[in-house]
Amino acid sequence: MSHCHVCGSNSAKQERVSEVFVVQGRRILVEDIPASVCLRCGEPTFSRQTTEQVRRMLNGEAKPVRSEEVDVFEYA
Ligand SMILES: [Zn+2]
Repeated sequence: MSHCHVCGSNSAKQERVSEVFVVQGRRILVEDIPASVCLRCGEPTFSRQTTEQVRRMLNGEAKPVRSEEVDVFEYA
């Protein structure tokens, strides 16, 4: 178990999370990514293998399961 890179806590639980990645200006949502989520600050950490898998998906080796409209708010 590694320490959280944000707050340094070493307490985490295994969860599946959704993350938005930006690839060439497009936002892409990836759901159900296995992550180690920090119990203190909620920061998800992905394993090297998971990161590599997501990178391959985002680079067009997988077809999206669906497309959704996304509501965007700007904090101004
Ligand atoms: Zn943390």
